[in-house]
Amino acid sequence: MPPLDLIPESPGSVPVVARADVVVVGGGPAGFAAAVAARREGCSVVLIERYPYLGGLASGGMVLVLDDMNNGQEVTVTGLCMEMIERMARIGAAVYPPVEDRRQGWDVYRTWAPWGLFDFRTDSKPNAIVMAAAFDPDGWKRVSNEMIVEAGVDVRLHSWFSKAIVRDGRIAGVICETKAGRQAILGDVVIDTSGDLDVAAAAGAKFTDGAYMVTTVFRLGGVDTEAAERFRYEDPDAFAKVDKQAKRTIGGSWDRWWLKTPLPGIVWCNCPHMTGLDAMKVEDQTRADFEGRRRIYALVDFVRANMPGFERCYVVDVAPQLGVRQTRLLEGEYVVTKDDVNHRVHFHDTVARGRDYYTPYRAMLPKDVDGLLVAGRHYSATESAQKLSREIPPCMSMGQSAGVAAALAVSAGIAPRRVDPKAICARVRAQGGDPGDIPSDNARIMETAA
Ligand SMILES: Cc1cc2nc3c(=O)[nH]c(=O)nc-3n(C[C@H](O)[C@H](O)[C@H](O)COP(=O)(O)OP(=O)(O)OC[C@H]3O[C@@H](n4cnc5c(N)ncnc54)[C@H](O)[C@@H]3O)c2cc1C
Repeated sequence: MPPLDLIPESPGSVPVVARADVVVVGGGPAGFAAAVAARREGCSVVLIERYPYLGGLASGGMVLVLDDMNNGQEVTVTGLCMEMIERMARIGAAVYPPVEDRRQGWDVYRTWAPWGLFDFRTDSKPNAIVMAAAFDPDGWKRVSNEMIVEAGVDVRLHSWFSKAIVRDGRIAGVICETKAGRQAILGDVVIDTSGDLDVAAAAGAKFTDGAYMVTTVFRLGGVDTEAAERFRYEDPDAFAKVDKQAKRTIGGSWDRWWLKTPLPGIVWCNCPHMTGLDAMKVEDQTRADFEGRRRIYALVDFVRANMPGFERCYVVDVAPQLGVRQTRLLEGEYVVTKDDVNHRVHFHDTVARGRDYYTPYRAMLPKDVDGLLVAGRHYSATESAQKLSREIPPCMSMGQSAGVAAALAVSAGIAPRRVDPKAICARVRAQGGDPGDIPSDNARIMETAA
């Protein structure tokens, strides 16, 4: 007799609805890059996404600044990430500082800081302006749809991954829950870009349970951003007082709690941050939504009454996806540490890069499952290392390399773990990306047996 709180499930069969060389699960920044990169290498690719749009946290989570893509004035993340930025900019959906403005100085700071396009990891004042981009979430969806169609990726939205098909230690495909029932998709290589390591965990790969604050990101409309910025500089004492109270009301934000977006009068609010919640638990996810909205409307009441520029503001939208920074983290062939990130350690098998740090191929390979690659915010890193290396551009860099690695595995008929990292770098470079194989002057070279 099973315990009363366990319901037995009857075994059955699931129709196979698609087969491809490469199956990518999760259409966020990493998954988008992986799918396009693998397809551009000539593979057939199926991309699976649970929500009705592509972009993950970048669009549905309304995370609207692309950063961590510079080492001083060197632009470190190129490839599909830059392609996305340039295409969005061409349709007015992204804004970034021109090369001549990427420097330190109050003139450029006052222009670009309201967009959040400055080096936020240095304490020097004013922070230097660097390559970073502010974008519109629907612009992201539009451009990714275009690029996915141009590449010829077979996209399956509204498909929620639920089960890994594993045979003799090798993943052979996935099962998704859909309105049409359960569906199986088979592939030679599967790439887990779900952000929460759903596929690798289900396939039996080792992982650790990470956690970090969550955020119900939102946008306000009807904001006079010029008036708000004038208040900041012309009456700094009054500004400091009101701004402090605004932050107290929202209860958890970065120094600048609102930033400009490409849409005039609409600002992005990367807050309120909430701690002590487990983003893998339905109860905590639900609590975050209710508590986040309560704080957002309290802030709106306060700034309408007290903050110049916000008198007529209103809530445009709260991000449809909860802002989850960290949950499960792969325990792969190598686990990247905070020291590796902080000391810019360069590995013999570096295949991707972020700001000034590098990602070894081993951090994308599960130890215990074959045929599987992992890219994005759930890659193999310690909790503290991931907090410093999980921004959208580095996730796209990893995704592009994973897509290329999968394609190389398919064409050679070998397991992904046997693919030569140097071959991955060569193909990523041919695609216009910078896989970080050539260390910058300030990198620390790690001598490791090849
Ligand atoms: C509030 C917040 C603020 C941030 N600020 C910044 C910032 O300013 N700049 C920056 O660059 N980065 C920022 N980040 C980090 C960045 O947004 C993420 O680390 C990045 O989006 C990770 O990309 P990803 O593709 O790995 O994962 P995600 O963006 O999480 O994408 C995962 C995708 O997989 C899909 N998926 C998940 N599970 C399943 C399933 N079971 N079946 C099918 N599909 C599934 C999801 O719907 C999603 O589309 C922020 C993050 C948060 C939460």
